Amino acid sequence: MVQENFSTKESIKNLILGAGLAGMSAAYHSDSHIYEGQSLPGGVAKSIKIKGFTFDLGIHVLHTKNQFILNLMEDIGVKMLEVEREAWIYSHKTYTRFPFQANTFGLPHEIIKDCLMGFIQNKYTNKQDIKNYHDWLLYMFGKGFTQHFMYPYAQKFWGINPNELTTDWVNVRHPRPSLEDVLTGALTDQTKGFGVNAIFRYPKENGYGDIAIKLSQKLKDRISYNKLAINIDTNSKKVYFKDGDIVKYENLYSTLPLTKILDLLTDVPPEISRAAQLLISNTFQLVFIGIDKPNITTKSWIYFSDNDIPFVRVSFPGNMSENCVPPGCSSILVEISYGPNESIPNNINSLITKVIENLIKVDVLDSTDKILFTESHIINDAYVIFDHNRKSSVNKINAYLQSIGINVFGRYGNWEYLWSDESIMSGYNISKLISSTK
Ligand SMILES: Cc1cc2nc3c(=O)[nH]c(=O)nc-3n(C[C@H](O)[C@H](O)[C@H](O)COP(=O)(O)OP(=O)(O)OC[C@H]3O[C@@H](n4cnc5c(N)ncnc54)[C@H](O)[C@@H]3O)c2cc1C
Repeated sequence: MVQENFSTKESIKNLILGAGLAGMSAAYHSDSHIYEGQSLPGGVAKSIKIKGFTFDLGIHVLHTKNQFILNLMEDIGVKMLEVEREAWIYSHKTYTRFPFQANTFGLPHEIIKDCLMGFIQNKYTNKQDIKNYHDWLLYMFGKGFTQHFMYPYAQKFWGINPNELTTDWVNVRHPRPSLEDVLTGALTDQTKGFGVNAIFRYPKENGYGDIAIKLSQKLKDRISYNKLAINIDTNSKKVYFKDGDIVKYENLYSTLPLTKILDLLTDVPPEISRAAQLLISNTFQLVFIGIDKPNITTKSWIYFSDNDIPFVRVSFPGNMSENCVPPGCSSILVEISYGPNESIPNNINSLITKVIENLIKVDVLDSTDKILFTESHIINDAYVIFDHNRKSSVNKINAYLQSIGINVFGRYGNWEYLWSDESIMSGYNISKLISSTK
């Protein structure tokens, strides 16, 4: 693509695209410069402020045990709170504690019985039979747990059939309780914390976005904002930006989604474009709600699997840090998921009405609560979907990008399910490559 009216402004040795956590971590740990398309740092880990309330772009909590990350938080000056999680599930019109497999107390007896029988007399015990995520759920938890929560929740969250998902992403995400825990959680209201985020860290000030703010403050003028890359010429080693600037580079590192970086290139081989067309993700629609009432709940967040409820997760920013809400107020962060083939409704007002009606139906809101404002926000490519095409497509695209001198990293550059600490580590690993490149 020949760009007219463009002029070469700078020449940069190590050019990074994207000032999300991965890009900023790479720049913090190396001699490099970031070009960011938006006016603020942080990508999907930024927080936004509305009328004195702070909202993250979907629930964000830090649950790493990695000392490198914890030291980094201290070095950059993020003051972290340690918060005890109070996570719940709403299914079959009933509230139970998270995780479902360890807490069926309170559910209809038929469902508890199915779950226990399926767990105790699990017929799906042959590891060789695991061909997809659905098989894996059956193997791990048995038929009852799978059928009554995990399968419908996965279908709602990912927006595709769990048979089409691989298990490459599951690792520590689904704890398998002991039989004793399963029985205790069926007979009593078990408060024991399970899983990696039973105690999590969360910034005291500025929402989760404080990590991005503090990193960007350290980087100062090593980030150029409002620099949306629209074309890359890998032969002449130039990036063209929407504002008309051209920047020459020696080495290029990108955190842009794999699908998007290919759109910036010309002459992409057809087999690579075909591989990119097979990459899929879901889209999240967020609804931010401010309420003129303190302490509407002690819960951290709630998962919703029932299909008649439009949202998949609801969280309460004031229970992450009290500084996320003004005194005397509460807030709700609602997450709605759309699969790759689902369309996002055009009429935001009717969607918000439906969300409020359902929050009242599930007793999160009271019909007399005074709502101060509602706002909505879309996250494209929220979660990369691990279907059966992903691995081979990603490998093909990576090999091609490497052959033309583009190094990709971060959650979307790697087209992975990376938590924020893993995105930061991905940036750190790239910083070592940057430092070793002449
Ligand atoms: C809904 C949701 C909930 C999550 N919850 C958690 C959680 O609880 N705990 C946790 O640890 N992690 C969580 N994560 C994951 C975490 O947010 C990510 O791992 C991390 O923020 C990804 O950082 P990144 O830099 O790789 O990508 P991004 O944040 O996407 O950064 C990429 C940057 O590139 C910029 N860019 C894009 N196109 C261009 C262009 N053409 N030119 C220039 N710049 C461009 C973007 O503006 C962006 O700033 C969650 C993610 C989501 C979506």
